Parts: sequence; C-alpha cells; structure tokens
Amino acid sequence: MINVTKSYLPDLDEYTKLLKGVWERVHLTNDGPLVRDLEEQMKAYLGVKNLRFCTNGTVVMQLALKAMGITKEVITTPFSYVATTNVLLWEGCTPVFADIRTDDFTIDADLIEPLITENTQAILATHVYGNACQIEAIQALADRYKLKVIYDGAHAFGAEYNNRSLLDYGDASTCSFHATKVFHTVEGGCIITPDDALATTIQHYRTFGHRNDDYFSMGINAKNSEFHAAMGLCVLPKVPELIEARKAIFAQYDAQLDFSKLQRPTLAPGMTQYNYAYYPVVLESEQALLRTVEVLKGDDITPRRYFYPSLNTLPFVKNAQSCPVSEDIARRVLCLPLYPGLAEADVERVCRLVNEAVAEAIV
Ligand SMILES: *Cc1c(COP(=O)(O)O)cnc(C)c1O
Repeated sequence: MINVTKSYLPDLDEYTKLLKGVWERVHLTNDGPLVRDLEEQMKAYLGVKNLRFCTNGTVVMQLALKAMGITKEVITTPFSYVATTNVLLWEGCTPVFADIRTDDFTIDADLIEPLITENTQAILATHVYGNACQIEAIQALADRYKLKVIYDGAHAFGAEYNNRSLLDYGDASTCSFHATKVFHTVEGGCIITPDDALATTIQHYRTFGHRNDDYFSMGINAKNSEFHAAMGLCVLPKVPELIEARKAIFAQYDAQLDFSKLQRPTLAPGMTQYNYAYYPVVLESEQALLRTVEVLKGDDITPRRYFYPSLNTLPFVKNAQSCPVSEDIARRVLCLPLYPGLAEADVERVCRLVNEAVAEAIV
C-alpha cells in the first residue's frame, strides 16, 4: 500500500531521551523549555526574527487576522487547502477570490487590483506546493493600497526565495507542521513576522490573552506542548536530508513520466532553494484524472486530489467570484506519492501506471 505521503518518524530513542527531561521537570505544556528551544532552533534554521510555535497551521492564520484587526474583505486565492478560506469565514471576514496563474497556480497579482474596494484590508495568498507567489507584485499593491499581506506558507518550510526563507516575506507568514508536511511536529504550526509588536500580541493571544496574573486581551488557546516540541526537535536536524531524499524522487518522476499528456507547474525564478513538498501533475481532463486514480487504486496506490475543489465553489461560500483557471486546474490536478523512503521500484511502478492510464484515457 503506497499513500500520497507517509510521515517521517525520528529514532524512537532520540525522542524518548527528550521525554525523559519532561518526566523530570513535569512541565508538560505552557511555554515549556522544549517549546522555547524549538522556537530558537527554527528561528536560526530559517533565519527569521520572530517565530511563535502554535497548535496548528490553521489557528495561526486566525491569530494573524485577529492581531491585525482584519474583519472586512480579504483578497485570497481559490487554489489552496480549505483552511485558507475557512479561517476568513471563521473570523467573520469576506473572502474575495482572485483567480490563479496558469503556469504555477499561485494567485494572479494582475487580477488582485480590480477587486480592491474601500473595504479591502488584506491579501491572504498561498505559496502553492512550496513555490513562491508573485511576491514583489503583491507587495507593490499592498504598499499602494495600504493592505496587509499574510502568506499561508503551510507548504513553504525549507524553501528559499532570493536566498531568504520563503516564510520571511509579507507582514506575516504562517506554516503548518502537520504530520504530512515536509517538517512536522505531529500537529503544529507557527507564525513568522518581522513586526515585534505583532509577535508579542500573538504570544499573548495564543495563551488566552494571559499576561502575568492578568488578562490583557481576548485571547484563545493556541499554544503547543512539550511532546510536540520534542518531535520537532528530533525532526528539524533531519530536514536537509529529508529534502534531499524528496529531490531524488522528484528527479525520478521527472525522468520517467510521459509529459506529452501531463502538465507540471513551473517554479518562480527567484526560488533559490525548493523543498520538493509535493509532486502534482495536471491531466488532460477530469475523466483522465478519474481513470488514473482508478488505475492507481487498483494497485493499492493512493494519490490525492490536492487542491480540490476550487475554494470559490465551496457550498458554504456565498457570492464568490468565478475563477475559471482555478476551477479547471482543481478538477485536473493530482498529487503523486512522495515521501522519503519511497522505493525507486515503487516510483517506477507509479510512473508506468500513470503513463498507461493517461495514454488510454478518453479525453
Ligand atoms: C496543511 C495546510 C493547512 C492547515 O494546516 P494544519 O496544521 O493542518 O492546520 C493550511 N493551508 C495549507 C495550504 C495547508 O496545506
């Protein structure tokens, strides 16, 4: 059985060594020493100024919106995981969808400007599959119209744009450390921001707004535990080799898939380091995709329709803009299995089955 992804687990003895310390201190959560150590190590690894470790990659987007006082219209991408739209709805904001680019599936900066109104407060964009959005163009619009920029960088850990962490752009970037991501803490996430005041507000928000013995703001509970931090401390040093292992599988897919009937997203020219987070292919039609999924599943291989569906078509999103490119790509994109430890022979089998399925599919 081959799944689209498989979580990396570190050496159990290394993990339990860290747990021994937890047993000695009996400090299980609430900004413990392992959480602080992980935050420092992640800051050093990414080269960023402020980073707060939280419970997951969804709540950190909510904290960012809340801390920036964003309650009205937010221009966002329809091509992302459902969390990107849900956080806007959950925070009472109105998502306004700008369609994506045909070559790399990130939000199309040219389509943002016509959607800006007097109620627009922010842009929430996703670095799709670990590839950068049009960072300069988005920042130029934000500067001109005084908008905040938040990046959903759930896929971006370990990726660099112009030799700087991709998570170090915008007013804030968020990341997910869910078990399926390139770097994980079982469940977890973080927010990164160059703004010290914003980082302090989020520090308070993640622990009920509690400061000293008082409550200074209406916070929530978004702090993470020593057990999750311990996992992060074991996985973080392995990230460079995990990325190298992904890169080798990438190269094998690149060499063995038949691209006469498959499209691949491009990488932004500024990507000085990619993290090989996902291997998406776009098929000729949804029928070709469904046929390919059926063939792979017949051989116990589970790919994933990701991202699907286009978020502007979610039934609980009202009055959404139509986004023909995103709707089309979402219907045809499939992520193939990719994780460190996936055997060469298995990648070869996936390639053979995909090549056969797309060759015989009726478009
Ligand atoms: C995984 C993911 C999230 C959600 O992160 P969690 O840590 O699972 O809450 C949000 N956005 C994108 C693009 C993701 O891939």
